[in-house]
Amino acid sequence: MKFSYKILLCTMLTLAVEFGIGGYVFVNDVFKASLERETGQAMDESSILRFAFETAALNIPSKYNRLQNSVIEEIGANLEKSGQGTGRLLRLSDEERQVVYASEGFVEDTKLLNQIQEKTRAYQIIHPDEGHYYIQTGMRITTLDRVLYLETLRDVTPVYGERERGFAVYRNLTLLILIVSSVLMFFISSWLTRPIRLLTQAARKMTAGDYSYRAEQISLDEMGQLTCDFNHMANVLEENILKLQEEVRAREDFIAAFSHELKTPLTAVIGYADLLRTRKLDDEKHFLSANYIYTEGKRLEAMSLRLLDIIVTKRCALEPQDIKTEHMFSYLRDMYRGHREHPLVFQYEQGTIRAEANLLKTVLLNLVDNACKASETGSRVEILGENRSEGYWFAVKDFGVGIPVEECRKITEAFYMVDKSRSRSHNGAGLGLALCAEILKLHGSGLEIESTPGEGSCFGFLIPRAGTEE
Ligand code: ADP
Repeated sequence: MKFSYKILLCTMLTLAVEFGIGGYVFVNDVFKASLERETGQAMDESSILRFAFETAALNIPSKYNRLQNSVIEEIGANLEKSGQGTGRLLRLSDEERQVVYASEGFVEDTKLLNQIQEKTRAYQIIHPDEGHYYIQTGMRITTLDRVLYLETLRDVTPVYGERERGFAVYRNLTLLILIVSSVLMFFISSWLTRPIRLLTQAARKMTAGDYSYRAEQISLDEMGQLTCDFNHMANVLEENILKLQEEVRAREDFIAAFSHELKTPLTAVIGYADLLRTRKLDDEKHFLSANYIYTEGKRLEAMSLRLLDIIVTKRCALEPQDIKTEHMFSYLRDMYRGHREHPLVFQYEQGTIRAEANLLKTVLLNLVDNACKASETGSRVEILGENRSEGYWFAVKDFGVGIPVEECRKITEAFYMVDKSRSRSHNGAGLGLALCAEILKLHGSGLEIESTPGEGSCFGFLIPRAGTEE
């Protein structure tokens, strides 16, 4: 069953029960009050009758010492006559509780008569036939040595009729309210459950592969909050899915590039090895072939070592120390002391950084190496260092070939080379910057590349200063 129908059904059931009980209690309460009022009036009436009887008895000339039954009958008839039109009936009984006078139509039942005591006034409600209700009262009269019992009968059928009418009106009113409420509640419950329908629709669309679909938020209440949270969850999921897809793509690219990088040197190695074993070559050709095998082998070895470095760096935990930046620059200066092709220009501020020295040296060496490879012989390479508010800024600047803007984003991917033949001629396999990026990631940093083709490039990165939280 639909949730909106459940809301509708529950509301209707609650309303029906509440109106049913409420109506019953209300109508019954009114009925009780009316019946009490009628009972009071009946009792008052019987007291008046008793007084009238006693007065009439005293006024009768005393022929006898005792009040005769005929006189009682006469007084009873007179009293009845006086109350004609009120629907009141009376019955008079003697000491033996034998009826002396009874109005026509007075019930024959003597149960109440037998219950009347000296000082008690009794009453009961009787229902002698279908559709008629009476209040029967009874009391003792003592006059002229006679003990008599006076009973009255008051018709209260209209009070019962009113109760029935009240119930009928309430029943019809409840039915009407339930019908009107069902229509209203149908619309209200569908309006209330609309956010759920929108969420279900969004969930289905997403299951079908439309990850960018979002549920519409149509309220600010808890349902609106749920929609908001659902959409937030969908955003995070979509991001993760895209990230995973990107990772899968990168892995596939990596495998494709790796196999490609292996294929070329291996083909050459196999080709030259085959030449060496199948033909008798002169000394020079023999040397060239063997040399080719040696250099390609070395290249493969360098590539496998680089890959290993990347894998190890990815998995290793950083062990940072406080390092004076001058040490890094003097290390670089020592490394390139014999290097004559490119004058290295050092320009740096003093500072203390928190990093793993060996890893940082690898990054700087790679960047300087790349800068040299990209520059004409004699073109200078600048190695810069400055204190910035966010950390210590290292940069390697060259005035070489530069990199097209759209390539800048990709050159940190493994095996990516802007100019493949140029890189290979320098023994490159497109792994150096990938390694740098991994190392900087470990330091909570990344490479920032600025480059203009034909003018040169600047590779920079920030390293946290000693004493600052990473
Ligand atoms: P490789 O080992 O081939 O040098 P890298 O990952 O270090 O690989 O560099 C990737 C590519 O980025 C290189 O092939 C080169 O084309 C380009 N590159 C790197 N540094 C520079 C630079 N300073 N100037 C121009 N191109 C560069």
